[in-house]
Amino acid sequence: MTRRRLWERDRGCFWGASFASLLFVYFAYFGVPSSTRPSRSMRCFFHGDVEAVAICKACHRAICHDCCAEVGSSVACRNRCETDVQTLDALQRRGTVSFKVLPRLYFGMGLLFGIFGLFFLCEGLLSLRSNHADFGGIYMGVFFVFLSAGFILAAQRFRAP
Ligand SMILES: [Zn+2]
Ligand SMILES: [Zn+2]
Repeated sequence: MTRRRLWERDRGCFWGASFASLLFVYFAYFGVPSSTRPSRSMRCFFHGDVEAVAICKACHRAICHDCCAEVGSSVACRNRCETDVQTLDALQRRGTVSFKVLPRLYFGMGLLFGIFGLFFLCEGLLSLRSNHADFGGIYMGVFFVFLSAGFILAAQRFRAP
């Protein structure tokens, strides 16, 4: 088979893999946005005529200044959810330990995929000079390089405050 035929046969695979990798990089970097602040016109769940200043961490009700109690750095319904929020915070503290390990794990995976990618790319590019062109290797290489970039970007994002 000629090089041109090989390229035409694998072109779909190439763009498909590139597009999937780009999507992966995008979601790894930007993630899904979330909000914890009450919207402007929200009223207290317990006092319908008073504007809410916070959202309880345990039951997610909007509450006014009189109804909220501070538990550590979190907000809870006074005399209702304080113990629940304490429990949630304790669980979350345990979660932050793995949060510190994740960036390193992602970075390591990124490096590994990067090495794979470069290896496949070099092999594929070198093979172009011979009679047995290995386009599959080049596509694999590009795919792994994109994957690597996604993991390293994700690791950077975790590190940001
Ligand atoms: Zn509550
Ligand atoms: Zn209230």
